[in-house]
Amino acid sequence: MSDDREELLRLVDDLRSRVEHAAAMGVVLPSSRRRSTPPPATDPEPAVELSPPASTVVAPASLPFGADAPSLDPAARAAQLRRIAEEIHECTKCRLCEGRTNTVPGEGNPSARLLFIGEGPGANEDAQGRPFVGRAGELLTQIIEKGMRIARAEVFIANIVKCRPPENRAPRPDEVAACLPFLRRQIETIDPEVIVTLGRPATLAILGRAESITALRGRVYAWEGRKVVPTFHPAYLLRNPAAKPDAWKDIQIAMRELGLPVPPPAKPR
Ligand code: SF4
Repeated sequence: MSDDREELLRLVDDLRSRVEHAAAMGVVLPSSRRRSTPPPATDPEPAVELSPPASTVVAPASLPFGADAPSLDPAARAAQLRRIAEEIHECTKCRLCEGRTNTVPGEGNPSARLLFIGEGPGANEDAQGRPFVGRAGELLTQIIEKGMRIARAEVFIANIVKCRPPENRAPRPDEVAACLPFLRRQIETIDPEVIVTLGRPATLAILGRAESITALRGRVYAWEGRKVVPTFHPAYLLRNPAAKPDAWKDIQIAMRELGLPVPPPAKPR
């Protein structure tokens, strides 16, 4: 088989898996319905600060964040999230169930206005049954509590797959497709205003956009009545600290969308 033909077949396979993936998320292609991923709604401001200014880093406060979430009763949301978690606990819809120690449904405020979505549980998360509890989780917690100055418990944190992929590999398209209905029900239950997708797999799963996170970050995307802000995964930031300033700019974009006060730019030294 010629190289050109092999490349063409690879592209066709890739396109097919993305279409199946999008269909699993309920994304409808432009030929049959409205665009699921309209052009960016907001351009990023030319933020200049490179990290949370030290003077603005304070102990996390329990703000009334999510307390005014509309319509659904918070207790009903919590009960619904527990039911979803129980279903996840019993789930064997994909091969990832075979190697898990614990399922990791997600955790946080059932009425959170802000939802973080990562890729999948790692070793620490699998051991504890909680999302983002390893080193990457520590960094995410710092971003939330020191950068955004809200308590971690006031947001909701989840992943696109609820069981640990072996050797921390990326979840495969069929695994993502099998698991996404759980995340989708969690989103419908929590009803967040803003979703921050952490890394390319989470962004692809939600927006159906396969570009690199570098190409997609820095702006707000409209998605099913919510705002999606893609940024780097904290594990990537640990490996590439030079990307932290851009991640902080993304977080500030999410803060502005939520009406949270954004720290002033750091003064030049
Ligand atoms: Fe079920 Fe999701 Fe776990 Fe797969 S990853 S077994 S779909 S809960």
